[in-house]
Amino acid sequence: EAVKKIGAHDDKVKAYLTIDEEGARTSARNLDDRLASGGERGLLFGLPAGIKDNIVTEGLRTTCASQFLSNFNPVYDATVVKKLRAADVVTLGKMNMDEFAMGGSNENSSYYPTRNPWDLERVPGGSSGGSAAAVAAGEAYFTLGSDTGGSIRQPASYCGVVGLKPTYGLVSRFGLVAFASSLDQIGPITKNVEDSAYVLQAIAGYDAMDSTSAKVDVPDYLSSLTGEVKGLRIAVPKEYLGDGVDPQVKESVLAALKTLEGMGAVWEEVSLPHTEYAVATYYLLASSEAASNLARFDGVRYGVRADNPENLLDLYHQSRTQGFGPEVKRRIMLGTYALSSGYYDAYYLKAQKVRTLIKRDFDQVFENYDVIIGPTAPTTAFKLGSQVDDPLTMYLNDILTIPVSLAGVPAMSIPCGFAEGMPVGLQIIGKPFDEAQILRVAHAFE
Ligand code: GLN
Repeated sequence: EAVKKIGAHDDKVKAYLTIDEEGARTSARNLDDRLASGGERGLLFGLPAGIKDNIVTEGLRTTCASQFLSNFNPVYDATVVKKLRAADVVTLGKMNMDEFAMGGSNENSSYYPTRNPWDLERVPGGSSGGSAAAVAAGEAYFTLGSDTGGSIRQPASYCGVVGLKPTYGLVSRFGLVAFASSLDQIGPITKNVEDSAYVLQAIAGYDAMDSTSAKVDVPDYLSSLTGEVKGLRIAVPKEYLGDGVDPQVKESVLAALKTLEGMGAVWEEVSLPHTEYAVATYYLLASSEAASNLARFDGVRYGVRADNPENLLDLYHQSRTQGFGPEVKRRIMLGTYALSSGYYDAYYLKAQKVRTLIKRDFDQVFENYDVIIGPTAPTTAFKLGSQVDDPLTMYLNDILTIPVSLAGVPAMSIPCGFAEGMPVGLQIIGKPFDEAQILRVAHAFE
């Protein structure tokens, strides 16, 4: 059924890069057979899901929306994919994204841009734009996205769905094609908060295959969905409601805070003083890590290889010239520059220090508050094409999600209203490994 529905709808939204009709049918049939023979049901039994195309799937093309990997068929499943299969999920296919997760609008996909189901002239956000648009359009029950600087939360906000970026280390990155390894996290995009808790339950937990995986006990997230927020202490950073935030977005966020107040929570204004340095810090660190991570795409090991190279160096050169799109090249150049000897102290090292200051801002606020709340993005979804020629404006869309990524703390975007017909996202930020608290607060709205 779900596969048919995608076939009928996806020509407009274009959320999928690959639809795995055969695989979906086979797994659905296997689940039917198991039920018929009296077998057990997994936690997510029969739910049809889409996987962002930077998460590897055995035998199923995984392109990262790049021409470089247009012919890449991984030989193994990412840990999250294994876990979803173990929970009896039926995977429908692979979701469109910005190339190698670099971007915030899906316009950097080297195949085609995904469109926002609420208004096809607008972007769905990015880089997990396909994942968010598919859930909004009913083309998957849920999807997985990845978030390095906002790529789950910002598209969830633009598409009016629920997106959760877990604490760094809670969900295994094994099998996630690395963009910026110290920031990347996989998380669920769902229609509602309860589903988010279910999917997180299925994918969280220690994995020996990921060296940054955290050895923590995974709590029962479902039991935190009590609707109870009495006495909750909420911090609202003044930097998150300042200039540059659309007045209607601000209004929706303040209305949500009022609702929470009505349920017995209290909120106060606080300051995260290093917020203004976050975007610069992020683009330095993320590009540096990307330059290093993407060195593995050399035309030898993965994906497409240039024809008729003159020698080995030329093979690298030509394959990379042809395989990568403009934004990916821009980041590799930025990162290579920042890491080159003589510049390392001035840029990379300095950015690492600022990252620590940003993390401390959060630590300090969390000494006195349970959660931090603000908008997910300064505006609602913008028009396709309106920012493509202006990378700096595009980078500023992430100003409210990037600090969270640098601090490694968890955050969720949930819909909290509309501004001129487009959904607004509320960002709920929690203490490290306190996803349960975020889910509790978010669930109070349902
Ligand atoms: N938009 C941000 C960027 O371009 C975030 C991307 C992400 O989180 N993967 O880097």
